[in-house]
Amino acid sequence: MKKVFWNAVLIINFYIILYFWFTNSGYLIYGAKSGDIFIALGRLAGLLSEFLILIQLLLISRFTFIEKQYGFDKLISIHKKIGFFLGVFLISHPLLLTIGYAQSKNIGLIDQFINFITRWEGIVGATLALLIIIFVAVISIKKYRVKISYEVWYFLHLPLYIAIAIALGHQIKTGDMSSGGAMYYWFLINTISIGVLIIYRFLRPIYLYFVHSFKIEKIVQENEDVYSIYITGKNMAKYMFQSGQYANLIFLQKNMMFHHPFSFSDTYNGKHLRFTIKASGDFTSKIEKLKAGTRVWIDGPFGVFTLKNSVNNKYVFIAGGIGITPILSMIKSIHNTSLGILLYSNKSEEDTNFWHEIKQSQIESHFFNTSLGVHNRISVEKIIEICLDYKDRDYYLCGPSQMTTNLVKQLKKVGITNEQLHFEKFDY
Ligand SMILES: Cc1cc2nc3c(=O)[nH]c(=O)nc-3n(C[C@H](O)[C@H](O)[C@H](O)COP(=O)(O)OP(=O)(O)OC[C@H]3O[C@@H](n4cnc5c(N)ncnc54)[C@H](O)[C@@H]3O)c2cc1C
Repeated sequence: MKKVFWNAVLIINFYIILYFWFTNSGYLIYGAKSGDIFIALGRLAGLLSEFLILIQLLLISRFTFIEKQYGFDKLISIHKKIGFFLGVFLISHPLLLTIGYAQSKNIGLIDQFINFITRWEGIVGATLALLIIIFVAVISIKKYRVKISYEVWYFLHLPLYIAIAIALGHQIKTGDMSSGGAMYYWFLINTISIGVLIIYRFLRPIYLYFVHSFKIEKIVQENEDVYSIYITGKNMAKYMFQSGQYANLIFLQKNMMFHHPFSFSDTYNGKHLRFTIKASGDFTSKIEKLKAGTRVWIDGPFGVFTLKNSVNNKYVFIAGGIGITPILSMIKSIHNTSLGILLYSNKSEEDTNFWHEIKQSQIESHFFNTSLGVHNRISVEKIIEICLDYKDRDYYLCGPSQMTTNLVKQLKKVGITNEQLHFEKFDY
């Protein structure tokens, strides 16, 4: 389903919500009583908050049809941007309602707030839900997020689901969506969004686990701190992926049971999957302790970093360090390697991964060792020097964030379009 379809779904639902709000609360806009307009806007802020929450759930649900169109990176970036507007609506909702009802009853804001808490059904729960959502939004701000480990951040995120359930209950009990067609519509869009999340985020990996019974076949050390994990299982021919994609892996071994994303480092062969992992942090430095036979939980494949999305049939592959994994898979998937050129940067020759496989593929390859000095880095000047037809190629980049961001900027400056640029970031 194309992007235009999803944009249409979004806009249509936005108008349906506006319609129900206007038919139920519209009269307040022209209301004679002081405070009416605040009440109407407060209700609208509440509805839009829930609508944005549902969009947020869909964005992180890994729903295949949306993920295929945008890619998870893009979806996460939209998720972060929406988070800001969601915060504004969430805080405006109780604030505007308190001002509105206080004005209409001619009482103070604190008195009105106490009145809500003590007399209105479900407001205590709704306040708790709001506090949970604000807490999660705050810990997700980059400044605070980087101070806690990904695992801690992930588990602190989970109470959000309770908050969403409370918020829904609160809206079905009171407000513009509490009766008639509006209530059924509200139930429907909530059920669909939460259902999609449960199916794609939780049930799909369980299904894949039972169909394929993934387990580690062998572990091969590629380099000082780089290991390839070969995974096999049942019905492997039916587990399809495209070169360049990745999956979330959970190894069912003590202290390893937390999902982490890794790219397929080899092509689809119907027998086993290969992931190549560099020891770089808490989790990845334990990879060498994995044992053959360990069961693996795999969710995926995901990602739009694939040759299918190219606009030309000639490529420049640019990899830095362990960023070679999806690139190698792509190189091995093209039948005519003369269509591609690889530029691969590492600290030193010893750090270069898959040297033999790259050579075997016969792709034109250029290796860069950054320890030899700045002149030994990949730059746009070097790319132009190496490929005379640089304007007619698609660019696939995967490496350290800074390298990827700089090269993408430089390539745009020499006229490479967004459509020709494809990159995968290994850090969220
Ligand atoms: C699409 C994608 C493909 C990747 N492919 C490969 C690959 O082929 N080979 C490889 O070696 N590395 C790959 N990575 C990077 C790898 O996932 C991280 O290095 C690893 O998860 C870091 O975990 P850690 O606990 O060892 O490091 P830490 O030092 O604890 O984490 C470093 C950073 O990694 C990120 N991170 C940590 N845990 C997770 C998680 N569970 N989910 C998402 N991000 C997390 C966070 O931004 C964190 O700040 C890929 C990452 C992504 C997003």
